[in-house]
Amino acid sequence: MSIQPALTNDPAYREFLREALNSHPYPSQSGFNVHAIGVTKSGLKIIGGNHEYGITSAIHAEESLRANWAEKAGPKDLIETLGFATKEDSEMFFPCGNCRDVLKDIISPTGNMIYGNPDGKMEKLPLYKLYSDDHKKLHGINVTAQLQRLVDDALDSLNKSYDYTLSDKNKNSLYAASIQTKSGEIFSAGFEGDIAYHPSLPIRNAQILLKHSPGITENRLSIDKLVIVQKTKPYVPYKDRQYLTEFVEASNFFLGKNNYSNPVPIYLFEVEDDGKIKNRWRTFSSDWLPFPFSPKALGFQNELKNSIDKLFR
Ligand SMILES: [Zn+2]
Repeated sequence: MSIQPALTNDPAYREFLREALNSHPYPSQSGFNVHAIGVTKSGLKIIGGNHEYGITSAIHAEESLRANWAEKAGPKDLIETLGFATKEDSEMFFPCGNCRDVLKDIISPTGNMIYGNPDGKMEKLPLYKLYSDDHKKLHGINVTAQLQRLVDDALDSLNKSYDYTLSDKNKNSLYAASIQTKSGEIFSAGFEGDIAYHPSLPIRNAQILLKHSPGITENRLSIDKLVIVQKTKPYVPYKDRQYLTEFVEASNFFLGKNNYSNPVPIYLFEVEDDGKIKNRWRTFSSDWLPFPFSPKALGFQNELKNSIDKLFR
């Protein structure tokens, strides 16, 4: 990652972040106030705060911002600068995976993100750095019998995926995932849609199978590889990448390994209807969600470790 967040002292950014503090977060459970602001190409300013409800559910500040943007600006007026204001100096936090999906089509690719205290430390990062290019072609790597089995299992899950709200036109946006563990087990899952547009995503579904199937061992927690299968060029929402990031972080923490020296290889396959591989790519869990919003980044290392410890009790 060549570009890192850089400190900025720009008075215009100070003024901009100050305006974000006019938003009204409602963090009834976490107590963590997030004040977001965006300024569009035409100069329109939009704010949004996080709102918590239910059982640790929340509308994130980015989601409030998008809803306000849709009412006031709309698709022709993209957000050029995105800001998050804090009342004290703190580390820079980055949007969660889901919020990257929420923001992706409403921000300008040349825009910036400003984070910090309008009266103290502020940092800046180009918005495009929050996204990654997964499509680096694989050359000279054979699809071994083992890899083919992961593809076949994922394809089977893809064909079982449930969603009746997709139109024929975007039917191929569905994908499925297979996780191969160091214990030699394979956990595959597809997409589970629902009428309320709150689907359960394939990597998440595969992880639930992995964690909650009886007979867990340390070697099952260590993910050897992840395979994604789709009937067009694969695209995995950042929301599902977030689940992988969090799980890899938890298992690496439990196993005493470093996330960056022990990333999970991710193989992405475009397949024909009959399962024949058309194209293949590879990336790594450490590149897939740049600048992750993760438990470790928020200081929840012990909770991470406990989440795994209790699988063995
Ligand atoms: Zn978020």
